[in-house]
Amino acid sequence: MSDENITAENILKDRPRMMSGDQFTFRCGHDLDCFTSCCCDVSIALTPYDVLRLKKAMRLESTEFLEKYTIPLLSSQQKFPVVILRMDSETKKCPFLSESGCGVYPDRPWACRMYPLGVAAPKKPTPADQPFHFVLRESLCHGHGLGPAHSVREWLTGQGVEEYEMMSAPFQELTLHDFWDRETALTPQQVAMFYMACYDLDRFRRFVFESRFLELFDVDEARVVALRSDDEELLEFALQWLRFSLFGEKTMKIRREIVEAKRQAEAQAGAMVAKEI
Ligand code: SF4
Ligand code: SF4
Repeated sequence: MSDENITAENILKDRPRMMSGDQFTFRCGHDLDCFTSCCCDVSIALTPYDVLRLKKAMRLESTEFLEKYTIPLLSSQQKFPVVILRMDSETKKCPFLSESGCGVYPDRPWACRMYPLGVAAPKKPTPADQPFHFVLRESLCHGHGLGPAHSVREWLTGQGVEEYEMMSAPFQELTLHDFWDRETALTPQQVAMFYMACYDLDRFRRFVFESRFLELFDVDEARVVALRSDDEELLEFALQWLRFSLFGEKTMKIRREIVEAKRQAEAQAGAMVAKEI
């Protein structure tokens, strides 16, 4: 059976669950008649770390990268904005596809590294319901059944997936937070905050350094220095700020003088009300 119309329900119900030692037989290469057909007319959602790697590979600022190569999506079924790779409007090819294959191969997105493996992860894993991998079998891909055999673990290691999963873990935790079960929809301002912090990192950097941000938040001096040039550090910081702003978690520290000024203002307001009574 081909997987063109596969649904999450089918995967959870019918799909053989592969663990890290389980094997599958697959080969990909220039010599196959399907070479690069998986890079056309495909919907690839980018993680914040994918965007970070790709914008660096293209030597672009995040805003320009996002405008040129992605489409932002926020439908009524989604709780937060996502970005997908923008296929060429005429040829339907991935913008990074060249004659010889992927033009951003060392920095290709997580989804491209995984293919033809997929992963299904229950929101709250139990001993009986653990995350698992499965093989996607699409008719366009002719590499199935051609040797050699790979274990899931070997495939993930060979494709550099582990680094991407490690760097994406804080984002994944953010997207699995209980907050999304409670809230119906983000406000337009929250959507803009989410988009900037997760995807438009260079704009978030300007927000940190060119607004009153560092007057409000107490950020360790060494971290402030790192945030100026280290994108990975900046992404981690941006996600902490989102958790503070959206979930109300204590992931950021407000400066003592700001807290004290607020406390005094509230005390003064309370005193005025008491006088009038
Ligand atoms: S990023 Fe590379 S591997 Fe992924 S779809 Fe584009 S050309 Fe193909
Ligand atoms: S369609 Fe499958 S075998 Fe062909 S290039 Fe893409 S991943 Fe490789």
